[in-house]
Amino acid sequence: MAWIFQGNPNRFDIDDYLSRYSQLIYWRTNRYIKEISVGDPVFIWRAGSDAGAVAVGRVVEEPTQAQEVKHPEALGDDLWVADELSPTEFKTGIQLSEVRLSTDEGMVARSIAKDDVTLASSTIITVPSGTVFHLSDDEMAALIHLWGAPIDIFPAAGVVEGKQQLRAHYARERSSRLRRDKLSAFRKEHGSLFCEICGFSASAHHPKPFAERAYEVHHRNPLAAAATPVRTTLNDLAVLCANCHRAVHANSHVIENYEELAKLYASRR
Ligand SMILES: [Zn+2]
Ligand SMILES: [Zn+2]
Repeated sequence: MAWIFQGNPNRFDIDDYLSRYSQLIYWRTNRYIKEISVGDPVFIWRAGSDAGAVAVGRVVEEPTQAQEVKHPEALGDDLWVADELSPTEFKTGIQLSEVRLSTDEGMVARSIAKDDVTLASSTIITVPSGTVFHLSDDEMAALIHLWGAPIDIFPAAGVVEGKQQLRAHYARERSSRLRRDKLSAFRKEHGSLFCEICGFSASAHHPKPFAERAYEVHHRNPLAAAATPVRTTLNDLAVLCANCHRAVHANSHVIENYEELAKLYASRR
């Protein structure tokens, strides 16, 4: 079966959670405990003023009491704003394949879903209260269509191939929240922004509104977290100019590429 799991940003910091735990997340699912199965496709839906589908993935762990999940470190308990985690509530583990937190990044806004003939009558649109929504096959197909994805957005559970991983990597790096936090922390520490590989300082070349756009945030260790879900911290991220970032991702040897380029530029200084 296909699902939408909804969350309310006023009660739980969804954006932070999806940005930082890009591999495995847990969602509160106190309904349909018997029906949710490994392999089921899931869309994560953010409620509130900026509502819509913001992530997609597959169930990898069936509803389990919070105190017994396989990876409690990925529960993100500290991100509850209004509620608290109860150890006996049920959590479903989801392997995410894509996160899009804003319309810029390609989330499917509620207003768009509402205009879709098939989705207009789905319960997430008509009766949007609750956490777990079952989607019919037609509704799921319509939502996938709106999401739009050139490659399989639902890789088989546990199997994330290289291309998929790279997409996830970029999506996480683009995630507005992490990017913003990293850039402001970097600026605080160093006084200004510059590329950590080549030293490029955009403010010297571009007018202010464009300068910040010249930087991308790179996850230093994209594949290391494969075995266990690890929270992304700002120290895991590097600030790079777009050119260097592209070079780092020239092939799958991301870590080696980074080191090689950094060494090269350091020797020229
Ligand atoms: Zn650079
Ligand atoms: Zn990167």
